[in-house]
Order: sequence, then C-alpha cells, then structure tokens
Amino acid sequence: MGQPKCDRCGLEGTILYEERFWSGSYTETLPDGTTATFETLCDDCHSSLVRN
Ligand SMILES: [Zn+2]
Repeated sequence: MGQPKCDRCGLEGTILYEERFWSGSYTETLPDGTTATFETLCDDCHSSLVRN
C-alpha cells in the first residue's frame, strides 16, 4: 500500500493520515467549465466538494 495522495491539491498523506483520505470517484466543475475527476481526496478537498 502506497501513501495516499490527494489528486486535487497534491497533499501527500502518511499512515497516520490515511483515514483522512477519501477514495472514490469525485467530480468537480471548474470555473472554466471543464470537469475534473479525482479518485483520492484529502479531507479538506472532500469537504469542499461535498459542500456543493
Ligand atoms: Zn486535497
């Protein structure tokens, strides 16, 4: 198992932080109208996306 890394902001996790990372398929519509897909998000980014 490698260390998790946030696809959105690039934050790298450690074993201690592993539970704070979210795996799945998350999409975000960017200001320019394109859509970005993330498979791994840190807790901060996950909160930002889920809030929408
Ligand atoms: Zn992040």
